[in-house]
Amino acid sequence: MDSQAFYRRSIDDPEGFWGDQAKLIEWRRPPEKVLDYAHPPFRQWFVGGETNLCHNAVDRHLAARGEQPALIYLSSETGEERTYTYAELHREVNRCAAVLRALGVGKGERVVIYMPMIAEAVFCMLACARLGAVHSVVFGGFAAHNLALRIDDAKPCLLICADAGMRGGKPVPYKHLVDEAMREAKHAPPKVLIVDRGLDADMKWVDGRDEDYWDLRDEHRDAEVPVTWLEANEPSYILYTSGTTGKPKGVQRDVGGYAVALAASMRYIYGAQPGETMFTTSDIGWVVGHSYIVYGPLIHGMATIVYEGLPIKPDAGIWWKIVQDHKVSTMFSSPTAIRVLKKQDPAWLKKYDVSSLRYLFIAGEPLDEPTSRWITDGLGVPVIDHYWQTETGWAMLTLLPGVEMKPVKFGSPGFPAYGFDIRVVNEMTGAECGPNEKGVLTVKPPLPPGCLTTVWGDDQRFINSYFGQFEKELLYSSSDWALRDDDGYFFILGRTDDVINTAGHRLGTREIEEALQAHAAIAEVAVVGVQDELKGQVPIGFCTVKDPARIADATARALLEKECIAKVAELLGAVAKPYKLHFVNALPKTRSGKLLRRSIQALAEGRETGDLSTLDDPNALEEIRKAVKK
Ligand code: ATP
Ligand code: MG
Repeated sequence: MDSQAFYRRSIDDPEGFWGDQAKLIEWRRPPEKVLDYAHPPFRQWFVGGETNLCHNAVDRHLAARGEQPALIYLSSETGEERTYTYAELHREVNRCAAVLRALGVGKGERVVIYMPMIAEAVFCMLACARLGAVHSVVFGGFAAHNLALRIDDAKPCLLICADAGMRGGKPVPYKHLVDEAMREAKHAPPKVLIVDRGLDADMKWVDGRDEDYWDLRDEHRDAEVPVTWLEANEPSYILYTSGTTGKPKGVQRDVGGYAVALAASMRYIYGAQPGETMFTTSDIGWVVGHSYIVYGPLIHGMATIVYEGLPIKPDAGIWWKIVQDHKVSTMFSSPTAIRVLKKQDPAWLKKYDVSSLRYLFIAGEPLDEPTSRWITDGLGVPVIDHYWQTETGWAMLTLLPGVEMKPVKFGSPGFPAYGFDIRVVNEMTGAECGPNEKGVLTVKPPLPPGCLTTVWGDDQRFINSYFGQFEKELLYSSSDWALRDDDGYFFILGRTDDVINTAGHRLGTREIEEALQAHAAIAEVAVVGVQDELKGQVPIGFCTVKDPARIADATARALLEKECIAKVAELLGAVAKPYKLHFVNALPKTRSGKLLRRSIQALAEGRETGDLSTLDDPNALEEIRKAVKK
């Protein structure tokens, strides 16, 4: 099929297009109206239709796929391996739903899920969906304060956690963080349900509040819980954004539009077939985990891999061994993870038979060209970068191998996905940019199915955060810079708040980062703008290296710094040359692996960092603090 014609129809005739896609899922009651756009920027898809995410992800497949693997749980941390067929998944989800129901969970109630990557976490999500309850998964390992903030925003009737997660062979206790968060929160739920993995011998139970999952599951062994049918626009879940740029927003999603969007994406974007296996290396705490560990592959009748562990433990071949052993056809990972692998021996990429793999998809951060080439050559599989946000729930820019595979252009996440009327516009005037002209990536509403319906409990914030930037026209702003080249390929040039103004030149920090990354010794890099009396702002870089020998002493560092700066001058011109490069062991990131440029910049300018609620490794920030003091 011609992907351009496919795209055009989605924009010119959204009702016809999405009306057809709606047939990819099962409805209890078919929609009466495909689109209601009477109250912009709010829109409703599939109005009057009744369906359920759990039904589409599980029950629907029982007849044809009951004995087929649905969920494959693998932990390189504990050594556990368990496969659940669709029939077994159905049984577990029914037990779990009965447990939740007994604890007072019903339609529209919120449930906060704070769990590691274990199969039970997925059962809990699906059980909430089954009951028509709204889950809010909080990334396991977030600090107590972050958890408390999300509890207070979502006001759940139940919190579900595990005793502990495992990371790098060590248990990471969760439960005491839950206790702390419960004390801090103003809207602490009356009950906490604990999936005790037996990893934390010191775990304390709170009488009358804490419930044991295994005991209750036994009580409800044979329970069958009917699906609660929901109108397509009722909420399915709340998920908070990463908080790279500010206070996390509670992205609210619907039921019908999300199910249809995911079902369509599995076909057209991922080009995947029912019965195959998908391996998404994210975490259920992120949108990628919601869409492509849990709901997408299951709605499509695939087996999904739930993996607890690091990409380099027991060794850097673990992912490719999983691909080989489980004949993974579709894999989805992140640039951060690939850059971790890039520091390892490339021979690991060749050790296992990955011939089952059709594509490797990447999202979450800019995929620089050297990393993209490295993984493409190493695996011998097309690597498809695609761009999206927590807000959209699925890809906004992508290639469409399931429709028509266009050539990959390194560094580009491709073209607008069907349903997204994407415009690159001038940040001041809102006027559309020409080819190769940099502007803000926007979407002309109505947003397609699957995107956020509002910010939880705050419609005004939804309007202000996303639709308030341009006077000329109502546009959804992504807050990312982009450009479209002569062939129509898009490039993401960083976030709109990551721009340096140096001696009158506007430079995206991302462009300078790309240039630095082109130096073979560099593993990761963050560039920020720092106030300068003369030039306004100057770029300062922070880099990690692949081989520590290159920064072993002052002479080696100075040499590498010179080489790297020369690289930037060569690729971008002298104006873009970093004023200074610092070499560090790690860069500060959010828990989802995104660089915290804001905090780095604050330290580089001698200011305090402000809200660090989503910081992963405090040591990394300390290193930056020390580096800039020298
Ligand atoms: P917050 O909105 O709270 O500041 P966040 O934007 O980091 O946090 P996410 O929704 O997880 O939260 O991330 C989406 C952002 O990640 C995009 O807006 C973009 O900046 C970046 N991104 C995602 N995929 C890509 C990609 N393929 N190429 C470049 N950037 C990407
Ligand atoms: Mg964002």
